[in-house]
Amino acid sequence: MAQAAPLPTRRADLLARLAEPRTWDLAVVGGGATGLGVALDAAARGLSVVLLESHDFASGTSSRSTKLLHGGVRYLAQGNLSLVREALHERGTVLRNAPHLASRLSFVMPSYAWWQAPFYGIGLKLYDLLAGRAGLGATTFLGRAQTLAALPNLQPVGLRGGVAYWDGQFDDARLALALARTAAREGALLLNDCAVTRLLHEQGRVTGLHCEDRSSGQGYALRARCVVNATGVWVDTLRQLDGAAQGRSVEAMVAPSQGVHVVVDREFLPGEHALLVPHTADGRVLFAVPWLGKLVLGTTDTPRSDLPREPRPLRAELDFILGEAARYLGRAPTRADVKSIWVGLRPLVRPAGEDAAATGRLSREHTVLVSATGLVTVTGGKWTTYRAMAEDVLARCVQAGLLPERPAGVSQDLKLVGAPSTDAGLGPALSDAPGLYLYGSEQAWLQDLPGAGQWLAPGLDEAMVRFAARYEYALTVEDVLARRSRLLFLDAALAASLAPRVASILAEETGRDPDLAGFLALAQDYLRWPSEQDA
Ligand SMILES: Cc1cc2nc3c(=O)[nH]c(=O)nc-3n(C[C@H](O)[C@H](O)[C@H](O)COP(=O)(O)OP(=O)(O)OC[C@H]3O[C@@H](n4cnc5c(N)ncnc54)[C@H](O)[C@@H]3O)c2cc1C
Repeated sequence: MAQAAPLPTRRADLLARLAEPRTWDLAVVGGGATGLGVALDAAARGLSVVLLESHDFASGTSSRSTKLLHGGVRYLAQGNLSLVREALHERGTVLRNAPHLASRLSFVMPSYAWWQAPFYGIGLKLYDLLAGRAGLGATTFLGRAQTLAALPNLQPVGLRGGVAYWDGQFDDARLALALARTAAREGALLLNDCAVTRLLHEQGRVTGLHCEDRSSGQGYALRARCVVNATGVWVDTLRQLDGAAQGRSVEAMVAPSQGVHVVVDREFLPGEHALLVPHTADGRVLFAVPWLGKLVLGTTDTPRSDLPREPRPLRAELDFILGEAARYLGRAPTRADVKSIWVGLRPLVRPAGEDAAATGRLSREHTVLVSATGLVTVTGGKWTTYRAMAEDVLARCVQAGLLPERPAGVSQDLKLVGAPSTDAGLGPALSDAPGLYLYGSEQAWLQDLPGAGQWLAPGLDEAMVRFAARYEYALTVEDVLARRSRLLFLDAALAASLAPRVASILAEETGRDPDLAGFLALAQDYLRWPSEQDA
């Protein structure tokens, strides 16, 4: 079971490496799915890589997704077959390389009109065909009784049958951490809580950056042959800094759109299947997905003009989600049943001059831009395709003469930290309650730490908090309860009740203030219902 010892992530050691005078091949700004994917691919090719994340790994959009590894049934309807085929291939890659953090899941689309099952069924057969050898199982047509058996508590009135198909699901924040830790294993230096504040230019070219350890305020100037801006919805800030240094104004490329998720108990959709409503009252898709022992309902797609770190839901979005759930579930959840509400910002890419109000039309594919100074910016895309995006980014860096050419494809079969070294077949289901299984092959190391088996809540023992501090870059209570464990996302009140004990273990491990008060305020926000005025 035990593999190589986990690499320690002691802050003082990481900062000491950051201070070493040297020139990096690649500096990546942003530690979400996109930046971490780029850092890992580059490090695995033998390049020297540093990655700076201003807050915590995946604390931006990458911990707030619907957690689906999917080709995108919606993009199929739009006829974007190449995007779907690529994502289906990448879905298989994640399931293979991180089987402890990703699993396949059956989705059922119920049909209430005669045409729905044949219409969606034919589309999903095409989905199976596009997946080819990466297929996870065949789409099947279900009769009325089979549909009700698959989705107990589905609204039976008017139900005719359904279609079942396969996709994947994952733990997005823990996958991000696995990418970070695998990149570190490949030699990269990664720091969270370290913000890039400026770019360095010489003779009109980007030659490095300036970053700041947020807790001490200590600044560091780093030299790099290539700088990749992977800051998600925030890419325009760095692009504008790059332009300003050249006396140029830079037009924004991101049109953010927010997506809300609501979490309730599994009893509202018991069983092993997710529910997909392909066409809600306003034409959007609605998912009810079993995830880590709870049920996730979502999402919305609401344009925003600002970029808050912690976006909050509008009342209308929550009414929409609970209202649609009530149309499809016999016993529907109400506000009193909600355990957590979380919101993420999509970095949709705006073609020049496009009106930000219609986010449905904006590109969901990723975009890579190389500025006149050589700053490489990547944004958009999906979690599922992070690896393909990384290959694309590195190809562009080579094309622009910023990085030396190295063979691509190295990450295709690269097992992530925690993955069993041999192909043991399908891993555990991510719809199950959290537990030791999320640590994969590192379970033995975890169980050797003090506090193993001293459970704070189902799926979180004291050893996991120590493991997070020692090996998973955790600095604050939020890092532990929002992203190493997903308790904030699953049950914010329970997370708040454990926070003081987590804080004292963390303080003991790191010698730092773990910001208990900040976490308690955040947990309140994940439970707060917006007022009528926030419609
Ligand atoms: C509601 C919603 C649901 C989604 N569901 C799915 C899904 O089910 N499946 C799927 O495949 N995709 C899904 N996506 C898409 C997916 O989540 C995103 O494409 C992906 O997470 C984007 O990652 P990123 O790294 O580009 O951005 P982010 O995760 O936001 O990362 C950018 C990082 O840059 C950091 N940063 C910003 N400025 C600086 C700076 N100056 N210095 C250092 N760091 C900085 C930020 O702190 C942040 O961590 C969903 C998106 C949303 C919004």
